[in-house]
Amino acid sequence: MSKYVFVTGGVLSGLGKGVTAASIALLIKSMGYSVTAIKIDPYVNVDAGTMNPYMHGEVFVTEDGGETDLDIGHYERFLDINLSRDNNITTGKIYSIVIEKERRGDFLGQTVQIIPHVTDEIKHQIELIAKKYGSDVAIVEIGGTVGDIEGLPFLEAARQLRLEKGSENVLFTHVVLVPRLSTLGELKTKPAQHSMQELRRIGIQPDILVARSSIPLTNEARKKLSLFGNLPPSHIFSNPDVDVIYEVPLRLHEQGLTKILSEKLGLKYVEPDLSPWVEYVEKFSKPERRVKIGMVGKYTRLTDSYLSIIEALNHSGTLLKVRPEFIWIEATDLERGIIDIRDFMNSIEGAVVLPGFGERGVEGKINAIKILREAEIPVLGICFGLQLMVIEFARNVLGLDDAHTTEVNPQTPHPVVDLLSSQKGTIVKGGTMRLGSLDVRLVPSTLAWRIYGGVDVVRERHRHRYQINPAYLSAFEKNDFIASGFSVEGFPEIMELRNRKFYLGVQFHPEFKSRPLRPSPIFTAFINALLTHPTS
Ligand code: GLN
Repeated sequence: MSKYVFVTGGVLSGLGKGVTAASIALLIKSMGYSVTAIKIDPYVNVDAGTMNPYMHGEVFVTEDGGETDLDIGHYERFLDINLSRDNNITTGKIYSIVIEKERRGDFLGQTVQIIPHVTDEIKHQIELIAKKYGSDVAIVEIGGTVGDIEGLPFLEAARQLRLEKGSENVLFTHVVLVPRLSTLGELKTKPAQHSMQELRRIGIQPDILVARSSIPLTNEARKKLSLFGNLPPSHIFSNPDVDVIYEVPLRLHEQGLTKILSEKLGLKYVEPDLSPWVEYVEKFSKPERRVKIGMVGKYTRLTDSYLSIIEALNHSGTLLKVRPEFIWIEATDLERGIIDIRDFMNSIEGAVVLPGFGERGVEGKINAIKILREAEIPVLGICFGLQLMVIEFARNVLGLDDAHTTEVNPQTPHPVVDLLSSQKGTIVKGGTMRLGSLDVRLVPSTLAWRIYGGVDVVRERHRHRYQINPAYLSAFEKNDFIASGFSVEGFPEIMELRNRKFYLGVQFHPEFKSRPLRPSPIFTAFINALLTHPTS
């Protein structure tokens, strides 16, 4: 039977609850236990796939093509495991199942209610996942903040699970903000007190409190949190701001969290070996040099929109003892002439053209790509980024005026990027893109092939509806813009400019498979190219 650690949040969202959940998972795993992690998102969307990144941050893609919350990415990176779409539970998913059961007649004439039918389904889904992975412990993070109406059925299900399974099998961790008022310089515990009160009102007494603050928790603050939170001071953990998120499990371990987790869950304590993480954090904190990377996209005002790409660049950078610095270049501002890519040229060593959808900012990005290409600055294009590199090349090198993607201009005379044939006739938007881990066949002796160590086939994760139109490939290749990877269906998945250090775009998303201790070869090669580039 699996044990469960619930992680809830209080005071406000965006506290790094996902990182705390992932850190707890890592500490338990490091004692030698098998762990899985579940993210509950109380919104009504069935999954994150239909949401704008500004609403929700990046959409993370799992091996099996789930479009999930970005916290699933944290779990995968901390635990170095692959999770599935099932690890992300939403209100939309739960209600779909309950309503389907009702229509089938499974409830045999009963009135279907939030308690017990919805809460039963929530518990059932959580237990199913724990069972599927055969895990000793499942970490269950409940998104949002205590007090949100949407979150109530999930908290109620958690309360019931504790009652059913006993306190040695179900643990509650609450993550709160303890703000510091700049005028007083003092840590204020009142919001945290209220949030714990609210939890108790629902019937949950947290066992462990993790306090997020800009500075380490003072003794005085700890005493107050203990008194008003109704838990011993030794169960209160300070989680101040850190340079790099992989420091969080180390700081929590130092304060004795691993021991408390093992005691509370009745798991034999095994001293964890966290040395690879200590080493990672040290390498990250003491880079031998820095590189400035221009990040060209249209969701740059919320960098969480590109979380896995930032992570992947950091993983590769740390491996190479290089600290990437991100210069955000907003495509809409480029398009409107508010900024000019030329102004960045002297300050960046390379650029990433980021993934995206739709028309906004597209012409700004295409224009920037032209200038970057002509200046021979290393460029990595990801998904939409590759597609725009292809459009730019078609227009400015092949002379195909008005070349475009049919996503933006369905009437283009030169559809160099076109709808995937498998997508024709698809009307439903949710969960219907070409998704998840799929084979990419590499072309021997190309840069991409060398980057991946000379193998024939790699598997990378995808999320797209459009593809590079193979009808134009020979024209591109005659001009040295060659395809170095193909999908099983036969369309180009990687394009690279010959005789360049690094001008390469990928249709897939290598960022989703990058792990701190096992970075993605694509990002490592890109950063390497910046180090050896003459402008650096
Ligand atoms: N909008 C493009 C497509 O659907 C690219 C998607 C992306 O960048 N993830 O093909």
